[in-house]
Amino acid sequence: MTIKTDALIVGAGPCGLFEIFELGLLGIKAEIVDSLPRVGGQCTELYPDKPIYDIPGIPLCTGQGLVESLMEQIEPFHAGFHLGEEVVEVTPQEGGFRVVTNADKVFETKTIFIAGGVGSFQPRRIRLPEAQELEGTHVNYHVKDPAKYQGKRVVILGAGDSAFDWAVALQEVAAHVTLVHRSEQFRAAPATVMEFRKFVDRGEAELIEFGTAAALKIEADRLVSVDIKLPEDEIRTVPADELLAFFGLAPKLGPIAEWGLDINRKTINVDTERFETNIPGIFAIGDINSYPGKKKLILSGFHEAALAAFAAKAIIEPGKKVHLQYTTTSPIMHKRLGVED
Ligand code: FAD
Repeated sequence: MTIKTDALIVGAGPCGLFEIFELGLLGIKAEIVDSLPRVGGQCTELYPDKPIYDIPGIPLCTGQGLVESLMEQIEPFHAGFHLGEEVVEVTPQEGGFRVVTNADKVFETKTIFIAGGVGSFQPRRIRLPEAQELEGTHVNYHVKDPAKYQGKRVVILGAGDSAFDWAVALQEVAAHVTLVHRSEQFRAAPATVMEFRKFVDRGEAELIEFGTAAALKIEADRLVSVDIKLPEDEIRTVPADELLAFFGLAPKLGPIAEWGLDINRKTINVDTERFETNIPGIFAIGDINSYPGKKKLILSGFHEAALAAFAAKAIIEPGKKVHLQYTTTSPIMHKRLGVED
C-alpha cells in the first residue's frame, strides 16, 4: 500500500499534533505516524494526570487534557493517523521521499516533519534469553486481543497501571491470572489494586510479592511454566501458558539515527528560521531538535511547528507567495477550519 501525501509527520506527541494544525491552516493535509498505539507522546505516556502550567493561554491542564484539546483543535484538518507503526526507513527520491513503516506501509511524501521527541517508546523487555524465543507468541509486552487469553493460565509481571488493569480485565477470559512483582509497593491506581485483591481473596487469582522471573520453561515452542525467584533464593514454579510483562517504556532514538541526518547527541541539528535539517525538505521540531538556546518545552515546539509549516508550503507549492494571515480575520482560514464567516 502506497500513500501519496504532501506532508508526513513522524511522532504524534504534542508537537507532531500541533504540526497538523499549522499545516492545515496553510491548506496542507498531513499523514502522521507513531510507534505507540495512542497519540500524545510523553504527555500521555509519562504524565497523563500531572498538571501543566506553562501552555500559553491555558492556566492549568493535565498531560492527557492537553492532548485531548489538541485532538479537538486539529479535527477540521482530517489528518491520516497511523498508530502502532514505527517509521523505519526514509529514502530521498524524485520530488520528495519514500518512507516505510515496520508494518510495510509506504508513503511518498514531499516533506517530512520529524517530531520524534526523545525517540520511539519501546517496552522494557524481560532480561531472560528464553523470553526472546517466545516474544510475540507466548511472551508479550502489550495485549492486542484479550480473546487470545481465553482459558489460558496467565502470568503478569509488573506493578503499574497496565499490569493491574490487565490483571483485572483478563479475569473475564483467562483460566487463571498470577501477578508477580518484585516488591510490595505498587504504582498502579489504588482502586485497581483493591479490585484485583478481591479476586485474590476469593482464590480466583494470585498475587506474588517480592518475586522476579528467573527462568522460563519452554516445550515445543510453547510456554510451560515460569520460575519465580523469591527472597532467600527460593524458587517457585508457576504453570503458565502466557506471560505478559509491563515494565514501562523506554525511549530509543532507533531508526531516526540511520537517515543521514546531522545528529548531535540523540538530537537533530536544525536552523532556527525554518527548523529544517541538513536534508532539504526534512524538518525537525519539538524535543528531538537542537539549535543554540533550545529549550525542551512544549511551547517551543509549537513555535517551531508554525515556522516549519511555512517553510514546507514553499516546497510543496513552489513559486507561490505565502502570506501571513490571522485566524481571526482570514476567510480562507475560516473555510479550512470549517467555521462560519
Ligand atoms: P514526544 O512527546 O516525546 O513525542 C514523540 C513521539 O514520537 C512519541 O510518541 C514516539 O513514540 C514517537 N516516535 C519517535 N520515533 C518514532 C518513529 N521512528 N516512528 C514513529 N513514531 C516515533 N513541557 C512543558 O512545556 N511543560 C511542562 O510542564 C512539562 N512537564 C513535563 C513533565 C514530565 C514528567 C516530562 C517527562 C516532560 C515534561 N515536559 C513539559 C516536556 C514535554 O513533555 C516535552 O517537551 C514534549 O512532550 C515534547 O513533545 P514532542 O512532540 O516533541 O515529543
